[in-house]
Amino acid sequence: MTGNVISTDAVVIGAGPVGLFAVFELGLLNIRCHVVDILDKVGGQCAELYPEKPIYDIPALPIVTGQELTDKLMEQIAPFSPEFHLNHMVTALEKIDDETWRLQTDGDIVLDTKIIVIAAGGGSFQPKKPPIPGIDEYESTSVFYSVRRMEDFRDRDILVVGGGDSALDWVLNLQPLAKSMTLLHRREEFRAAPDSVSRMRALVDEGKVTFHLGQVKGLEGDGTTLSGVNIKTKAGEDITVKCDTLLPFFGLTMKLGPIADWGLNLEENLIPVNVENYETSTPRVYGIGDIITYPGKLKLILSGFHEGALMAHHAFHYIYPEERLVFQYTTSSTELKSRLGVS
Ligand SMILES: Cc1cc2nc3c(=O)[nH]c(=O)nc-3n(C[C@H](O)[C@H](O)[C@H](O)COP(=O)(O)OP(=O)(O)OC[C@H]3O[C@@H](n4cnc5c(N)ncnc54)[C@H](O)[C@@H]3O)c2cc1C
Repeated sequence: MTGNVISTDAVVIGAGPVGLFAVFELGLLNIRCHVVDILDKVGGQCAELYPEKPIYDIPALPIVTGQELTDKLMEQIAPFSPEFHLNHMVTALEKIDDETWRLQTDGDIVLDTKIIVIAAGGGSFQPKKPPIPGIDEYESTSVFYSVRRMEDFRDRDILVVGGGDSALDWVLNLQPLAKSMTLLHRREEFRAAPDSVSRMRALVDEGKVTFHLGQVKGLEGDGTTLSGVNIKTKAGEDITVKCDTLLPFFGLTMKLGPIADWGLNLEENLIPVNVENYETSTPRVYGIGDIITYPGKLKLILSGFHEGALMAHHAFHYIYPEERLVFQYTTSSTELKSRLGVS
């Protein structure tokens, strides 16, 4: 494993609602957390799949949208200052000794931790690939499904394909750096924020972005670097856009991803746990939320919150083996209130 090593008490894999609330439960018990997520934002399914949909079954919140719930969880965990590593996928776990696990991310971060909390939901969100013949050959050189470092796209001739928020955001953000910027979408209507659509249309009017209605039909290039993309326009014309970079944004699907390779027991791609404490069959490795299975498991946010509380109370003994854990209420405990920064 390579990269800078960060030491911490706990690493939470997954910044969905359940991972975020786990940070709160661990924080109350004075357990420091780092949180890793593949996505560029926190909130998991709530923020990625249904940010504006109302949820009606969060206790004491009769109605809250996916994004509002995420924002409230972030506010709730703020006193514990968790460190986030977004845009990072945990790729490997390695046992260093009886008290330490080492995690590696695909962004070359290495975390040494006393406990691991897998809150990976339905697994990793992965980009849907468009069915274009030969696209695999150009991936990582000319075809990218996400933008990690904007600077890598400076002075490139870029074709962005799609009509959602990611497509529009990257047209707007990369246009000032790019040599040329073209947007291709199959219809006039966009699923992106109206403000982004207006800003994109203004750039088209100024001649800074070229917009085509149509679909990708094929790629031109030497098998490593693209030189152009063949398009069938909505009007039925065949045209070629000269470009060296293709950014298709066709949405995300969920796949188990590297979790399958971590040597954990899996049942139909889910992690079985001990329901007394949510530890997996591997000591110091816990599972909570949608990724786990046990008799009667419900894939509900509130179930994941409960699982996080029991997990934290068990994990305390690994972090503070000499201390006795006294059960306390936040309403009355001076110690818990001081950790929360309230009087
Ligand atoms: C349309 C829709 C409506 C829903 N409505 C409700 C509702 O009304 N009420 C309700 O209770 N539930 C609802 N749910 C279900 C609810 O969203 C899930 O139960 C909840 O999101 C599970 O939370 P989680 O934190 O376990 O996982 P997720 O929200 O899936 O988050 C997991 C996170 O882990 C990350 N991850 C995965 N693998 C890795 C890795 N290797 N490295 C780094 N990061 C990784 C993912 O990127 C993701 O962000 C709904 C779901 C959908 C799709």
